[in-house]
Amino acid sequence: MTDCLFCKIAAGDLPVHRIHEDAHIMAFLDLHPIRRGHALVIPKAHHVWFEDLPEDLATRITSCAQRIARAMKRLYQVERVSMFYTGIHVPHAHAHVVPMFHIHDVSSAAYLQSGLEHFTTPPQLAAAVMEQTALELRNSL
Ligand SMILES: [Zn+2]
Repeated sequence: MTDCLFCKIAAGDLPVHRIHEDAHIMAFLDLHPIRRGHALVIPKAHHVWFEDLPEDLATRITSCAQRIARAMKRLYQVERVSMFYTGIHVPHAHAHVVPMFHIHDVSSAAYLQSGLEHFTTPPQLAAAVMEQTALELRNSL
């Protein structure tokens, strides 16, 4: 993909603050960090969605994120590090790795209905809806 931002980064055509690089993946700092250290881990090959990554490549990304998370815990003295894919902004699969200085650093607005300092548990769904949802997902795997 010639006009993909992350393909250009993977090819070395754009400067990044690199954390790790090997033949298959690259990790570098997010330009707009949620917190200092917020990193992205990408496959060098162009894949849009994380669910389409070959399993070995997904495992490499997760293992790299685990190493980064352990380093973040040592460096920043945080209790937890979050790792997630959102599929937003750049259509090239990328895992965010964020040291969590605050419990809501990566919370969904769905948890914050009562304000930032209050954790709002979303309502439970009816047992029949939960059962049907689990069945749909299970049967779709
Ligand atoms: Zn790409």
